[in-house]
Amino acid sequence: MDYLKLAELNEKLESTSKRLEQTSLITEFIKSASKENLRPVVLMVLGNVYPSYSRKKIGIADKIMIKAIASTSGRSEKEIVKIFKKTGDLGAVAEQVLKDKKQATLFSKKLSISDVFEDIKKIADFEGKGTVDKKISIIKKLLANASPVEAKHIARLVIGTTRMGVGEGIVRDAIAGAFNVDSKKVENAENILNDYGGVAEIAKLEGDKGLESIKLELFKPSKVLLAQRVESIEELFKRTGEPADLEYKYDGFRVLIHKKGDKVKLFTRRLEDVTKQFPDVVEYSNKYIKDSRCIMDSEVIGIEPKTGRWLPFQKISQRIKRKYDIKKIVKEIPVIVNVFDVLMINGKSLLKTPLKERIKLIEENITQEKNRFVIAKRIISSDEKEVRKFFMESLALGNEGIMGKNLNSIYEPGLRVGYWVKLKPAMEPLDLAITGADWGKGKRAQWLASFDISCRKQDEFKRIGKMGTGLTDENFKKLTKELKPYIIREKGTHVDIIPKIVVEVGYEEIQESPTYESGYALRFPKLLQIRYEKDVSEVDDIEKIKSLYSHQRGK
Ligand code: AMP
Repeated sequence: MDYLKLAELNEKLESTSKRLEQTSLITEFIKSASKENLRPVVLMVLGNVYPSYSRKKIGIADKIMIKAIASTSGRSEKEIVKIFKKTGDLGAVAEQVLKDKKQATLFSKKLSISDVFEDIKKIADFEGKGTVDKKISIIKKLLANASPVEAKHIARLVIGTTRMGVGEGIVRDAIAGAFNVDSKKVENAENILNDYGGVAEIAKLEGDKGLESIKLELFKPSKVLLAQRVESIEELFKRTGEPADLEYKYDGFRVLIHKKGDKVKLFTRRLEDVTKQFPDVVEYSNKYIKDSRCIMDSEVIGIEPKTGRWLPFQKISQRIKRKYDIKKIVKEIPVIVNVFDVLMINGKSLLKTPLKERIKLIEENITQEKNRFVIAKRIISSDEKEVRKFFMESLALGNEGIMGKNLNSIYEPGLRVGYWVKLKPAMEPLDLAITGADWGKGKRAQWLASFDISCRKQDEFKRIGKMGTGLTDENFKKLTKELKPYIIREKGTHVDIIPKIVVEVGYEEIQESPTYESGYALRFPKLLQIRYEKDVSEVDDIEKIKSLYSHQRGK
């Protein structure tokens, strides 16, 4: 199949924002794709040549693309940059300059879907000396053979800007429509395989049955089960049923441990392979897991070596990013692995096994070692009082709260299900001043839409976040009208505002932050009300924020 057809499909997808239309365009297209072309087509419609389980990136910087376009079209890089500045889209730039060029020359080999797919994959695979030149030469070859519209979409694919609205949900529904299979099964299959190209092939060749039989595989990351938030213990029980499984909600980071014999691989919830960063977790998994072909789900938390005190996530995040001196940081920030679930034992998938049986299997297959490798602390209870005590105990240890899980529930990768819930303390709202804002976009262009909120530090105001949710259209209008007279500076779409208006703000959490002058940031700030009766001198001060932050950390 000619690549031109795929480029034309992209054009059509771009010309409509209607989900149903986009779905039906992709459905028809993949129906007509051959067995060999199906995988490349699905991945390229998603704007990639790699499936989501792969950490490989095409990774071409704008600068390289500009060079390639310049050299193919015979224009100077300066000229290309000038056009790029006007349109902001290198795809459109490639299309425009090649249109001019193609009128003058008569040639070109027709590009097939697999030509483009395989060549772009090569670009990412080059390593070492002379890599940039090799990459440019492949891009040039593709652009030279491309028609202007093909060049536009090849350029976007190479720099990673194809996806303008065609999300995974649309591709999922298109696969279901094209091959007459259940879209929920397509999604489940993707959550395990993380490769919509492969899922489409199975749907085409084996239908619903094939999708159902997709299995977890060792050493291939799968998505994790996620939780929904509840506000009270009563609500928790409503969701989980009684008795429920209650566990500490540790403030660390999620690690899926894959183990076969003494080979261990560690994946995060974003499917990243972090095996190299955590040699200690590899060692513990080998020592303390009895089974030889298994996948365990865990939360890894950092500890202070001297006191053994649990550290907040920010600390351990340094270990995730670290690429060098790993031995040193392992000593500086040792970790405890808290295993809370198991997805595979003896090579057998447990995704359909109820939680209460999985808990038994965890207990049978782990030898616990204090401060190194343990089973997450849990109670099974239907007693509100007991759960409250457990919740307080968990917070006092520096955890984020507790998890509540239905004991009969299965493990559905990738979903935020109602039978897994999290309970965190409600945070005391803060009174803050509005000290800046951004003009909105689209239908909100007339209004100030996103507000800088600040706390007090003596007589000064220090930013602690940006707030754009919790506001009705009425709120936006009202605030814009009231803040306008206090605008002191405008730069681009941003305005500085003299602190006059006090707002009561709710949020999920206080975090340390290098971005804002206060040194802190609110997670998910939300307007609760405008406090007209309050003067800015009554805005909460930094000391209060510090104390709430320490309290939240349970110290
Ligand atoms: P959230 O990130 O707020 O949606 O909460 C879900 C996250 O809590 C999971 O992805 C885990 O990283 C973490 N977590 C900590 N302790 C547990 C536990 N006992 N069970 C499940 N998840 C946990």
